Amino acid sequence: MNRVYNFSAGPSMLPLPVLEKAASELVCYGESGMSVMEMSHRSPDYEAIIKDAEAMLRQLMNIPDNYKVLFLQGGASTQFASVPLNLLSEGGYADYIVSGQFSGKAYTEAQKYGDVKIAATSKPDNFTYVPATTRESFRAGADYVHICFNNTIYGTKFPYIPDTGDIPLVADMSSCIISEPVDVSKFGVIYAGAQKNMAPAGLTLVIVREDLLGRARPETPTMLDWKTMADNDSMYNTPPCYAIYMAKLVYEWILSIGGLEEMQKRNARKAALLYDYLDSQDYYIAPVQKESRSMMNVTFVTGDADLDKKFASEAAKAGLKNLKGHRSVGGMRASIYNAMPEEGVAALVEFMKKFAAENPKA
Ligand SMILES: *Cc1c(COP(=O)(O)O)cnc(C)c1O
Repeated sequence: MNRVYNFSAGPSMLPLPVLEKAASELVCYGESGMSVMEMSHRSPDYEAIIKDAEAMLRQLMNIPDNYKVLFLQGGASTQFASVPLNLLSEGGYADYIVSGQFSGKAYTEAQKYGDVKIAATSKPDNFTYVPATTRESFRAGADYVHICFNNTIYGTKFPYIPDTGDIPLVADMSSCIISEPVDVSKFGVIYAGAQKNMAPAGLTLVIVREDLLGRARPETPTMLDWKTMADNDSMYNTPPCYAIYMAKLVYEWILSIGGLEEMQKRNARKAALLYDYLDSQDYYIAPVQKESRSMMNVTFVTGDADLDKKFASEAAKAGLKNLKGHRSVGGMRASIYNAMPEEGVAALVEFMKKFAAENPKA
């Protein structure tokens, strides 16, 4: 078996010990005589799995008791609609910070449901930073403020948590969830597609403060109403059983290495390796402003589209896969989520040095 370093933005690498554990239990889980994939979601074995997954996530993220944890389907993109459906009141309004493509999509989707406004954006500067805001940036009495905490495509991350006063803050954390400690109590809602940093595709996590449940608009599809899901412990219908089991193994792995404090240390070391190299030379350009740099998605270009293309294809041959930037921005992007080992990032930096030496610019 020859595993590569996979820099994909998502679906992305999973920790090897997690994959091995899953493999060892694939055909027969414990004493159950069956695979987790074959289990009734209402069986005692599966009930234990989903309950453990929630308990471990609560421990890992230090989630306060007045928040519900929901294991849903539909991806983060479904939450772009679920957020206004659950929170935007009749005649109410909401403000969005647009710091990249996904927050733009969330804003566009919410426009279908009422009065939503862009409070701040870095679009005129190609999303190379996260805009600063103050409490005055938001309309008093808004139903919520929406942000995307880590901008997967551009490689930026909020260097601060916006002060919204009494207005609930809603955050898409798809590409930074469980990468470092975060104060959940500062948010009304946190949501994330699992396939970046948590599990295989198919699972969407929603963490919602209890007082925000029960406000859904009358036309809200039952399946998108967070309260339906909360009242039924995420089992109103069949949940994404296997992906939840995988998420549980991932939570277990992070707890075993020392929780999110240790995860943050490892992630900071990996990101520093790459950014320190980028700052030390002038062959590659890192377009993101320093204070907005993401620890999870690192973007860079050579300044020559043909060289960028050659970089990605030669890197792939050297076992460094999926370094091509998002189709909308080009260049390169190294996604270095929790499961990317430090050696993978070190190998990338060595490859970058070699490529620069062998491919002088005209
Ligand atoms: C990948 C991603 C999405 C889209 O997620 P899906 O699960 O594919 O809908 C949304 N927001 C962010 C920040 C992402 O990284």
